[in-house]
Amino acid sequence: MGTAEYEPIARRHRVPIVVTGFEPLDLLERILACVHQLEQGRAEVENRYGRAMRPAGNGRAQALLSEVFVIETRAWRGLGEIPRSGLGLGPAYRRFDARRRFHPVARRVASAGPCISGEILRGVRKPADCSAFACACTPEHPLGATIVSSEGACAAYHRYRRPVAATPA
Ligand code: SF4
Repeated sequence: MGTAEYEPIARRHRVPIVVTGFEPLDLLERILACVHQLEQGRAEVENRYGRAMRPAGNGRAQALLSEVFVIETRAWRGLGEIPRSGLGLGPAYRRFDARRRFHPVARRVASAGPCISGEILRGVRKPADCSAFACACTPEHPLGATIVSSEGACAAYHRYRRPVAATPA
């Protein structure tokens, strides 16, 4: 993608955006770069992942994406339908579109019972706000999407935010 698409976001929402790699040191250093921007009242896009990413992005990958896909409206779990938020196969590849070929019946999988995973995905509530967290809902017996995969917010809270054991007297 490159960095150009992020610049209007940084400007409009007044947020620093720093491109980073995936190693722990990468993440820590780029979080620090965000903190520096906030302290200095800046909201810019910085590419600190120059060893793998050019500001213009990967032109060949971009060309392939626009050859194969078209932008379309998509429904997202917890967020609902968002115009122009997804990719579908473009005219030249439509014959490979399983939805057109097999006409599957769309199933809406609602989150069960007390699950508030939609609000967690939107960032308005935290996993600990859910009455089922770590009791009725665990990674072994999930009630919602955000505890199923390891990168889900509920799964991460379950793994890393255990209650502190009482100190023995
Ligand atoms: S803890 Fe389980 S039930 Fe509660 S919001 Fe997360 S996934 Fe849903």
